[in-house]
Order: sequence, then C-alpha cells, then structure tokens
Amino acid sequence: VTDLTTPTRTPEDADAALRPKSLAEFVGQAAARENLRIFIEAAKARSDALDHVLFFGPPGLGKTTLAQIVARELGVGFRSTSGPVIAKAGDLAALLTNLEDGDVLFIDEIHRLAPAVEEILYPAMEDRALDIMIGEGPSARSVRIDLPKFTLVGATTRQGLLTTPLRDRFGIPVRLNFYTHAELEQVIGRAARLLGLGIASDGALEIAKRSRGTPRIAGRLLRRVRDFATVAGAPTVDAKVADAALNRLEVDALGLDAMDRRYLTMIADIYRGGPVGADTLAAGLSEPRDTIEDVIEPYLLQIGLIARTARGRMLNASAWKHLGLNPPAGTQD
Ligand code: ADP
Repeated sequence: VTDLTTPTRTPEDADAALRPKSLAEFVGQAAARENLRIFIEAAKARSDALDHVLFFGPPGLGKTTLAQIVARELGVGFRSTSGPVIAKAGDLAALLTNLEDGDVLFIDEIHRLAPAVEEILYPAMEDRALDIMIGEGPSARSVRIDLPKFTLVGATTRQGLLTTPLRDRFGIPVRLNFYTHAELEQVIGRAARLLGLGIASDGALEIAKRSRGTPRIAGRLLRRVRDFATVAGAPTVDAKVADAALNRLEVDALGLDAMDRRYLTMIADIYRGGPVGADTLAAGLSEPRDTIEDVIEPYLLQIGLIARTARGRMLNASAWKHLGLNPPAGTQD
C-alpha cells in the first residue's frame, strides 16, 4: 500500500493492453505530441531515419510508451534496453550491429550507462559508425564498422543527469510534464473502457485528482479502486466509491502517499520547515537521494508544497496546512 503512488514500475504496469499505440490515442503532452508528429512526418517524407530523441521527465509520464509509438508511427522495428543492463561496450556493439535501417533503439535510464559504453555511443549516434579496437599494445589498431541508419531514443528522469557530450547528440529533446486532472480523467476513462469497468465522470475525476499528475499511478489506483468496487458490489465507480477506496489505501486528497507525508513531516518536525539539503533528507528517510529528487520532490514542487532554494528545501505554508500544522511566522505561501 505504501508504494501505491510511487511511480516506478511494477510488473502490473507491463499490462501492454493499456498502453496507447498511436500519437492520436496518446492523451496530453500536446506540445511534445505535435512536435513529434512533424518530425516523424518529415523523416518519412525524406525516407530518412528520425533524428535521435531524448525523453526526460519524472517516472510514469509516458516516456517508454512514446518511444514505442515513435517506432510504430515510423513503421520501423523497436528494440529496447536500459542503461544499467548494458555491462560492456561489446554488449552495446552487438545491439547496434543487429539493427536494421530506420530501427528505433530505446535505452531507458540512459544516464546510467557505464562511461566505456557511453563512449561508443558518440560515433554511433553522430556518424552511425562503431570504432572497434583490435589487438593490444603497439600493434593495436582501430577498425571502423558502419551501422544502419538507426534512431536512438533515450529516456531519463532529468536532462541534467546526462553528460554534456551525450545530451548534445540528441537532435530532438522532449520534456514530459505532469498531466492535468482533465487529461488524467481521459486516461482513466480510456483505461476503464479497456478494463470493462463502469465509471462515472466524477469517479474518474476523483482518481485523477489523486494520481500525482502521473498516468502510471492513475492506472494503478484505478485497478485498486476496481477491487474495492467489486467487493462492495458497486456496479459503477463514482466519486463516493473512489474516495472511500482511496482513503482506505491511504492516498490523501492531494494524492500524496505515506512516503510523501514522511518527507513533509520530517522537514516540519525536525527542521522547522527548512531549509534542509537533499542529502540530509535522504539520510533521514533512508532513501537514495535519487528517489528524493526524481520521485518525491518533482510533484511536491509542482503543486507548490515545497520550494527549492540555494540553501535547501523549504516547506511552503500550504504544506504546513496540509499536515494540519501552523506554519511558523514568515513562511512563504
Ligand atoms: P515512463 O517510461 O515515463 O516511466 P511509461 O511509458 O512506462 O512511463 O508509462 C507508464 C504507464 O502509464 C503505462 O502503463 C502507460 O500505458 C500509461 N500511460 C503513460 N502515458 C499515457 C498517456 N498519455 N495516455 C494513456 N496512458 C498513458
């Protein structure tokens, strides 16, 4: 229950049936969608490979889904891997040499590539070639192998996590933002139809409001609400059913879960509202700093509960109120 609103992947999310399969089916991210549509059309018109694409944004916003859609819309093959999985330069070389012209190679968590692996990506992306060292010592020489015209699609939580040379090699950087309640309502309505679940619009909106702006969380909450509705014998999910189920799951009115509340409570109780540094919070919460910065904080910043200052994180007045506490004098709204 605690990690119900943690937007990292669980096997259930692998439910491929819920993934939108085309740009037209993909809800939200209007700017990203429009730009992609144009670049894809242009590449197709020129019978050329699409330029390399980097998707960045918090987990669960649709980076993997969009990567698959890009391949589908281009009508090319899709290969998928992730940064930490590629152990050696040779593993990446094997993947690259097996691609066909136009194929999309998707690398999730691309900021976690080993430096030696990342280095062979540079000529692969820029010149579509591999430089391989043969032999050792004075007789060693470099051999260049041409690669098919592939498109690399990378995904990362923050653009700033990439090294500059890697970041510079993506012609199409695409930022994904949190979804609005109205957009999530559509995502939920669509998922409910696919699941054969009756849902009233106020029920979809209630789940949308409590999904942390994240489609992956919306899908997960919808499934849990469906379980409650089934057991309660409710024929359709309305706002009342959704609210009761989400309260039982300890997802609060803002969609915050136990982890979010622990984070806010720690800053309030121990640091009088801050400022406090990310490392201190990570140690206090026994969570990796990455989880704090990539999973917990982006949404709290987005809804204005916290502020990031040069000296650290601070609670805004709304965070104190959400915890049912009085803000100290001088707290920012
Ligand atoms: P990321 O790669 O950014 O972590 P995913 O692409 O894996 O996120 O998406 C997470 C889940 O949310 C998937 O199950 C997907 O079906 C769903 N999803 C993401 N974006 C959308 C969208 N725009 N419309 C409908 N469902 C979406």
